[in-house]
Amino acid sequence: MLVNAKEILNKAYAEHYAVPHFNINSLEWVKAILDTMQELNKSVILGVSEKAAEYFGGWKLVADIVKDYISFKNITIPVVLHVDHGKSFESCKNAIDAGFTSVMIDASSFSLEQNISIVKQVVEYAKTRNVSVEGEIGHISTQEVGKENVSVLADPEECQIFVRETGIDFLAPALGSAHGIYVSEPKLDFDRMKKISDLIKIPLVLHGGSGIPDDQIRKSIKNGISKINVNTEFQQAFADEIRNFLASDKNVYAYRKIMGIAMKALEKVAKNRCSVFDCREKEK
Ligand SMILES: [Zn+2]
Repeated sequence: MLVNAKEILNKAYAEHYAVPHFNINSLEWVKAILDTMQELNKSVILGVSEKAAEYFGGWKLVADIVKDYISFKNITIPVVLHVDHGKSFESCKNAIDAGFTSVMIDASSFSLEQNISIVKQVVEYAKTRNVSVEGEIGHISTQEVGKENVSVLADPEECQIFVRETGIDFLAPALGSAHGIYVSEPKLDFDRMKKISDLIKIPLVLHGGSGIPDDQIRKSIKNGISKINVNTEFQQAFADEIRNFLASDKNVYAYRKIMGIAMKALEKVAKNRCSVFDCREKEK
């Protein structure tokens, strides 16, 4: 069942656990993640970046694949189809028109005023179509070997103004995490996280969730993080599994056999992340 992210994230925020945002890159990701989440009976947010959508063949093709797979496999868990780092109103609008139920509009490279004005436009379009919206404050960088993390941390007061002015449903503030592979252990600013959460009282999103130690993940959830984005970890597992499998058998060539092995690796990552993100299970 395709839903927007608002209710499931508000519930997660109130009950202190995090809903996974797993990025999808191809049909194999859709199948492996949806089957696993259905087995676990947990909600999931499928994140699609603009580049991934282009690779798939457009927003509509992604939406059609996800919708058709949900119906084909009778998937009953709540599934959110979400734009990851949408760069413009046009891009978000196209995704919404194609059937996406949630969008992130990332105008964080602009001034606060411009960010607010772009996000407001997206919120206006999204709200009347029952689509949830995520915005970003600060700058969440992408790790590059040999380079410093160039994230600009979110200012709590700017976050407050931003949320009040735009009416977004959840916020991604830059807090020290980064995309890609961490070259040194990430240092999240938990005081800032708590301060922002106390001020805005809507779910917070942690980007760059791959490679953050589990204790920092749990601490983040306690401090208001309700959605955690994971992408790199899946890609690494997928690539490693294929690399090893092909090296171990020089004669294998069957596509579905190779992808079947790779999908098992995705399933493992999804299960592992879910066990950490759902803090309620530890308390039972
Ligand atoms: Zn991100």
